[in-house]
Amino acid sequence: GMSKERIMEIRSKNLSPMTTKITYYKKPVFIHQGHMQWLWDVDGRRFLDLFAGVATVAVGHCHPKVTAAAEKQLKKLWHTTNIYVNAPINEYCEKLASHLPDPLKVIYLTNSGSEANDLAMLLARLYTGNYDIIAFRGSYHGGSQQTMGLTSHSPFRYPIATSSGCTHTMCPDVYRGPWGGSHCRDSPVQTDRQCGCAQGQCAANEQYIGQLRETFHTSVASRVAGFFGEPIQGMGGAVQYPKNYFKEAYKLVRERGGVCIADEVQTGFGRTGTHFWGFQGYDVLPDIVTMAKGIGNGFPMGAVVTTPEIAASFSKAYHFNTFGGNSVACAVGSAVLDAIKEDGLQQNSLHVGTHLMTELAKLRDKYEIIGDVRGKGLQIGVEMVKDKATREPLCPEAMMEIFEDVKDMGVLIGKGGLYGQTFRIQPPMCITTKDADFFVAVFDRAINNYMD
Ligand code: PMP
Repeated sequence: GMSKERIMEIRSKNLSPMTTKITYYKKPVFIHQGHMQWLWDVDGRRFLDLFAGVATVAVGHCHPKVTAAAEKQLKKLWHTTNIYVNAPINEYCEKLASHLPDPLKVIYLTNSGSEANDLAMLLARLYTGNYDIIAFRGSYHGGSQQTMGLTSHSPFRYPIATSSGCTHTMCPDVYRGPWGGSHCRDSPVQTDRQCGCAQGQCAANEQYIGQLRETFHTSVASRVAGFFGEPIQGMGGAVQYPKNYFKEAYKLVRERGGVCIADEVQTGFGRTGTHFWGFQGYDVLPDIVTMAKGIGNGFPMGAVVTTPEIAASFSKAYHFNTFGGNSVACAVGSAVLDAIKEDGLQQNSLHVGTHLMTELAKLRDKYEIIGDVRGKGLQIGVEMVKDKATREPLCPEAMMEIFEDVKDMGVLIGKGGLYGQTFRIQPPMCITTKDADFFVAVFDRAINNYMD
């Protein structure tokens, strides 16, 4: 193959500078091959992949059954568009719809999460006749012009280029929140200041919800088109909301004539363990659900699922997406749904994720610089701080040192949070408790090395 020097030369000449900016490591990894939760570099070194190409490889790299389904379809038919009737898209949409509650049964297929959220914004505006859209602070919903406006997560915004009628309301980052991390959240591990009632009835929860109501009252238009919420923030660093917060947001949005959109790009397809979709953990029913990433296990796909009523508002003019519903993508998508079921991956997410968070919480108790461990299933965040008293984010240099050390010991993890202070663990859902224990040992050693 090509030498590493040659690859880097091409990158600096022919790839956008953003490619280099987004590259994770100072000593980059040259990934060559993958199988299930494992990746190999060009030198044949094996890595445990706990980030899955940003929470995307849901069932495992080159999962044999998904690969076989793609191969079979590749030899039969690649592409027709929806101007012809063909089997794969119909089979797939029926199967995907069976995973959603009534009346969420109408599907639009896209190629990415940004496209899905863009379309959901359009649907919300057409259906309600309103324009304003609400999202939480710290949210990430995409990189297209409209979805960048919808996104709050500042490291990924170019505000001068995006004016899309979007307002960002509160996000009660329950660790950094105004009431010092005292709250109830839906995670097997709680913050050090957790009240412990777990019912959402404690004073801090009431304060959070009161603050949300007040924000809607003071900064949100009286008529809105829609509200987007990630059930657990992804890029934001596995940020979870207090109990009943999501439900209250839905109520406030609906009072203003808006529809509620669950962005399941990261939380969907069983990742949260307790449910197939993240929103189901909050006892709410969205009007629109958007998804991508895990839907195709790395094959470019996305989808918007909505009700027949909302879909009907989108029929006055044509709308066309050349690749949406591509035959190979649909064959892959079907095989992914089968693999999640056959391999018991939602259950595995819950089992391994709970174990991993429990073990990580022991490290949090041991080290001053681990502020918070949180999440659900295999959507996990480990927030790093200068010390537990100030909760000041650990500086980027220190984050990088630990991050690079973990990689050198053979584990790939992710990073997120507004200040880049949160390690993210969102692996292929096939990882085992043994893999989790290996990572905990590596992470323990990396923090020890840093403290020395
Ligand atoms: N929504 C969420 C919650 C995401 O995390 C992302 C991607 N990180 C997107 C939307 C956008 O998806 P894509 O990159 O496929 O456009």
